[in-house]
Amino acid sequence: MNLAQPHFASQEATSLQQTFDGLLAQHQAAPFPDWPTRAIRLQKLITMLLDHRERLAQAISHDFGHRSRHETDLLEIFPSLEGLRHALRHGRGWMRERRVPVSLWFQPASARIQPQPLGVVGIIVPWNYPLLLLIGPLTSALVAGNRAMVKVSELSPRFGTLMAELLPRALGDDVVQVVTGGPDIAAAFSALPFGHLLFTGSTAVGRRVMAAASEHLVPVTLELGGKSPAIITAATCLDEARFTHAVRRIVVGKVLNAGQTCIAPDYVLLPRAAMPRFISTARAILSQQYPEGAASKDYTGIASDRHFERLQQWLREATTAGATASPVMLPAGPGQRKLPVTVLTDCPLDSALMQEEIFGPWLPLVACETVEEALVWINQRPHPLALYLFDDSAATQNKVLHATQAGGVCLNETLVHIAQHDMPFGGVGASGMGHYHGQFGFDAMSKLKPVFRQSRLNALGLLAPPYGGLVARVLRVMLRR
Ligand code: NAD
Repeated sequence: MNLAQPHFASQEATSLQQTFDGLLAQHQAAPFPDWPTRAIRLQKLITMLLDHRERLAQAISHDFGHRSRHETDLLEIFPSLEGLRHALRHGRGWMRERRVPVSLWFQPASARIQPQPLGVVGIIVPWNYPLLLLIGPLTSALVAGNRAMVKVSELSPRFGTLMAELLPRALGDDVVQVVTGGPDIAAAFSALPFGHLLFTGSTAVGRRVMAAASEHLVPVTLELGGKSPAIITAATCLDEARFTHAVRRIVVGKVLNAGQTCIAPDYVLLPRAAMPRFISTARAILSQQYPEGAASKDYTGIASDRHFERLQQWLREATTAGATASPVMLPAGPGQRKLPVTVLTDCPLDSALMQEEIFGPWLPLVACETVEEALVWINQRPHPLALYLFDDSAATQNKVLHATQAGGVCLNETLVHIAQHDMPFGGVGASGMGHYHGQFGFDAMSKLKPVFRQSRLNALGLLAPPYGGLVARVLRVMLRR
């Protein structure tokens, strides 16, 4: 029995609590930072990202085994900067008190909503986009006037160490603190009495985070995962150009970060007759984009040996049970932790590939002849984080939009809804709870405090006991049909 373990764990928990207490004391000393203070913090983050772009990209690539430099710039640094610049442009407006109408009966009072910082926000970050999924929530926390405690993933050790150095240096350790470590520390972290806790990660861990947060009734935003479907309808298959477009966008959605993207298309629903054409088109597209196949420096590796083994095991399991695997990319050489994008047909429904979020470059095709069949399929499963529909008919689009629930939808596209600052980002049901990005993040990390200001002259005092004729007359108007 390891007696040292609980002692270690409790020491860690104490030190987390002390860090939290320190940040909370700072917050209580200055609970309502003005706009210049918030703007300077956002600006410092921008400067940090630009000054250390190279080191950040190297650290992330080291943690992945290999991460395409362009993917880090395009999918992490650029959207992080964009989110910060958007907050800088609009944050002052989001902070303003929002005047709202007062009901006739309470005139001439005034009513307004005052967005107020919640205090110390907790942010738990996964490994797949370690920078974006740290800076995005941190932007929301800071523009809303909070301080933050960030837990980076144990699978991003190099990146985590770098962030623990850079973030407090850029913003001050009275504004942000970075915590590194494994699931034990993460579990203790999620039990702290934050003003708000934003968790990005798997649905399974999300459940534990919510349970831990419930102890102190900490409000949570859960950014989870799941199996996001893409639908190519029979109508789209009839139009060669539209079909090629659909395959291209789905394959691009899958190939980025080697499929390790929460909103990557997990599988494709399409008519069976179109499957061979899907495979040949995908192969043609990827052989142009990655002539060297998975060995290309533009193609990202699999995050860890465990994930590498898991993905290969799932592929073996499916093919042993009758699935056909068609690599649509040349394989990488031995010794590289890289897997080529591979399309699968006839995957058994009970295989891990069809049950679990794939989170890698395997792309099952599922035979589905009609839109109605696709709707039944989707609605029999947990609500996905994203849903992609390839069809030009407004009637079909509306049918799918109305009949399904998903965290977000792209019509004739994949992934890019995440990059729209004026749209809320977040799942529904098993794919998550709550939203952030832009003003949605600001609001999620603020208390939208209603403030009712009574006027010196008002009629409320007249409606008091002993109730007489006046009250009876007023009630007749109030309760009229
Ligand atoms: P994960 O759930 O294994 O880990 C995420 C984080 O949770 C890590 O920092 C980890 O240390 C921490 N953690 C582990 N155990 C914990 C516990 N008991 N309590 C609190 N925290 C704990 O997820 P992952 O493997 O890092 O990321 C992949 C998953 O994240 C996929 O399911 C993916 O779809 C999802 N994801 C979702 C989004 C989104 O925006 N919705 C974005 C990226 C990834």
